[in-house]
Amino acid sequence: MTSWSPPELTPEVRARVNRRISELYERHRHADAEVASYYVSGQGYISGDAAGGAADTFGVALTSMDGETFGAGDDNVAFPLQSLSKVFVYGLALDDHGREAVHRHVGVEPSGDAFHTISFDERRHIPHNPMVNAGALATTDLVMGADGEERLARIVDLLRRCAANPTLEPDQEIFDLEVASADRNRATAYLMRSEGMIGDDVEGTLALYLRQCSVKVTARDLAVMAATFANGCRNPVSGEQVLPRSIARDLLTVMYTCGMYDFAGEWAYDVGVPAKSGVSGGIMACIPGKMGTGLFSPGLDPYGNSVRGVNVCHEVSERLGLHVFATDDEDAMIGPSAGDADPADIPRTG
Ligand code: GLN
Repeated sequence: MTSWSPPELTPEVRARVNRRISELYERHRHADAEVASYYVSGQGYISGDAAGGAADTFGVALTSMDGETFGAGDDNVAFPLQSLSKVFVYGLALDDHGREAVHRHVGVEPSGDAFHTISFDERRHIPHNPMVNAGALATTDLVMGADGEERLARIVDLLRRCAANPTLEPDQEIFDLEVASADRNRATAYLMRSEGMIGDDVEGTLALYLRQCSVKVTARDLAVMAATFANGCRNPVSGEQVLPRSIARDLLTVMYTCGMYDFAGEWAYDVGVPAKSGVSGGIMACIPGKMGTGLFSPGLDPYGNSVRGVNVCHEVSERLGLHVFATDDEDAMIGPSAGDADPADIPRTG
């Protein structure tokens, strides 16, 4: 573990962080050769040609523990959360029912399968974890509320408080398209009901799941949300404790082991920070006690993770020594960059 602590955000440090982010953005803009597909609600996975200009969208943002957000590129372009929503709903279920009760309904074991695979932990007769679709259907089913409307309102409220953005809301068009193409999720949900893994209101749970997937955020929102988890569930922008601090540990752990689909093991090995992705091309990465990162670029790798997003995280983790098991002698957030006149003036705390 490092003894790194965040440097004070002086004007010089701010300028340097801005320069770093712009450099990162420029370096990773051209990754199209690695892209396998793009996900478009209602159409599924499509080629780069079909995606058109949207394929170039690329936003990078980070939020410090002081609540300051830095960004580059299309950091203000909104996109649906998709699977990123799973982390928040898991948090809400934990808050509503406590760990033990939730873990009677969903495990914490990486599945090693694609996120929409219809498979379960056969020994415990529950979904493998809350980051795959079956697990998210289970946690969604657990969210408390008098009816679907209230349950949705509670989820949206949590998302807003995590982002310190009261305008977040589900996108009706995305939701309609998702509902119209939800065969596999519907099949998963009905199977789960027949096995007693969720309650009777299958269509209600499915709709609630797809609504949370359709909430739109920007890379900047996502950076604040990631920073909230990195800060023990206290939003560094608003100062609000959005969920009990103890829940951050559970969320970060499950993101670390299961957040990047069936690429989670390699991610933990190489990048080494808790993160979650969504098929819309968003990735949030949480560096506990240091910062939150929000990335958006819709070109996906074969696992369904954003190609540019993964590449940026790789580089940031490597250069800044952010892997949770990195050693002290690695660089920190404000280390030397090509544009720095004198790397000797860099604040070090290691
Ligand atoms: N709505 C999508 C689904 O359930 C979200 C999946 C994802 O982002 N991996 O299939």
